[in-house]
Amino acid sequence: MKDIVCKECDATLSDERIHLGYTECLDCSKVDKYASHTVYPHKTGGYIQPMSSEQSDNMKRLDRRSVGGERKAKGIYSDKSWDRWLKEYLTPKEDKPKFTPKPTPLPIYIPIKEAMQKVLDKFDDRGYQAAYQLTQSLYTSDKISLAVKSQITNELTELASMTVKQRKFLKRL
Ligand SMILES: [Zn+2]
Repeated sequence: MKDIVCKECDATLSDERIHLGYTECLDCSKVDKYASHTVYPHKTGGYIQPMSSEQSDNMKRLDRRSVGGERKAKGIYSDKSWDRWLKEYLTPKEDKPKFTPKPTPLPIYIPIKEAMQKVLDKFDDRGYQAAYQLTQSLYTSDKISLAVKSQITNELTELASMTVKQRKFLKRL
C-alpha cells in the first residue's frame, strides 16, 4: 500500500493524521497552528469549527479511540496549543486605549478691565449696537469668557438705558 504523503513536503503522513483528514504533515499544517478541529464533511474542503473545552475533550477521546489503541494524543492536543488557542479565543480582547484628543489649550483671555474699556470706547464712539457686537466678537474669538461676556453685556445694557447726563457722571468716577 502506497503511503499517503504530505501534499506540501512529501513526508509520510501518520495514520492518525490521515484518519483526521489532514493532507499535510504537522510541520506544514496551517490548521494546527489555529488549533481548532478541522471538519472535512465530504473530503472536499475543511472548515474550522470552534469548540468548547468540553467538546474538545470529547473529540480528543473520539479521535484517540478511533485510531485504534493509540493512547497518546498527538499534535494540537498533546502540546496544549488547542487549550491555549481556546483560552485566547474566549478572553475578551482588551479595549484599545480610547482616543483622547489633545486638549485644546485654554484661551488666554484679555483682562476684563481691558475688555470693558474696549467695549465702552466702542459704545462712546459708535453706539450700543456696535459695542454689543464687539462684545460678542470678543467672546467668539476667545478673548473673553462667557461669564465676562454676559457681565459686559449687562453693563452695556445698563449704560444704554442711562441718560447722557448719567453717563457723563459715571465717566468722572
Ligand atoms: Zn509537510
